[in-house]
Amino acid sequence: MPSEFELITRFFSRAVPRDMVGAGDDCALFTVKPGMQLATSTDLLLEGRHFFSGTDPLRLGHKALAVNLSDLAAVGAKPIACLLGLGLPSIDEQWVSQFADGFYALADEHGCALLGGDTTRSEQGITLSVTVFGEVLPELAMRRGAAMCGDDIWVSGTLGAADIACRMLAGELPTDAKLLAQIRLALERPIPRVALGRRVASHAHAAIDVSDGLLQDLGHILQASSLAAEIDESALPVHEALRGYDPLQVRRAILAGGDVYELCLTAAPAQRDSLARIAVETGVPLTRIGRITAGSGVVVRDVSGRIVSDIPRGFDHFRSSGDARL
Ligand code: ADP
Ligand code: MG
Repeated sequence: MPSEFELITRFFSRAVPRDMVGAGDDCALFTVKPGMQLATSTDLLLEGRHFFSGTDPLRLGHKALAVNLSDLAAVGAKPIACLLGLGLPSIDEQWVSQFADGFYALADEHGCALLGGDTTRSEQGITLSVTVFGEVLPELAMRRGAAMCGDDIWVSGTLGAADIACRMLAGELPTDAKLLAQIRLALERPIPRVALGRRVASHAHAAIDVSDGLLQDLGHILQASSLAAEIDESALPVHEALRGYDPLQVRRAILAGGDVYELCLTAAPAQRDSLARIAVETGVPLTRIGRITAGSGVVVRDVSGRIVSDIPRGFDHFRSSGDARL
């Protein structure tokens, strides 16, 4: 079995850009361009909590970085570098090799150099901790508290697939093998909307990435901005494979399902044409799903304009009952 240092040398010490210092020193070193602000974020992924035991390591390596890049996307930052903390109960070289391949493939795609980390044996289960660094012009960073009354609310991509896939894999919903095959990549291989985030930053007011459920994450924007929202349920972009699936489950999945990593943003109605153009240019659909209003809270209206009561809530790791899931 390789030592910790052999493991790092073999799998996590690929070349880094010449102006940066990567793994092997006590600290990584890199520079942010003059006038830019450093954007940083960290996410912890625990086996059995954030991913199923036995998840394909290639996809897991991708996802561990993707969920962090998604946070950079939500403020409109350009990725620069990342750090990787790994806690492993044992060393399975094939697993580590595939995990590294998945991680580096996405890192390379976004020019996000892996500059270091920490590796240790864990008593139980796999622990992954990724920290990302990016840069953004301070005046362009999309903040949660920047929504304005009268703004349109937009969401990128489609909703619902990751949640239904997760609940099928958890045994909470009966497994439909054909449907699961169409939706499980949304859960296991989310695409961080980095290019979109950077492009919309000069057009949008507030943004957030949907990690805990649309209503809950939009709720963070509303709370930070001291405003309210109305959502048109019929406008919500449902993943096409879910057409014809149990409508109550789909409603729950699109309003409260987590692990989505699409961007939800608010922008003045005057930005509609610009945002539509950006959607075409980036190849990522942007859908207008409602509006920011005065007051507090979120109202969801169904196709006939009636307020949907009993709307499902999003995911909260510390809530003791309800949507408890992995
Ligand atoms: P220290 O004890 O000084 O913190 P370590 O022995 O933990 O250093 O790590 C040695 C070097 O390997 C450091 O530069 C660290 O950033 C890097 N490193 C450790 N684990 C990882 C990893 N999982 N991915 C990338 N680099 C890593
Ligand atoms: Mg260390």
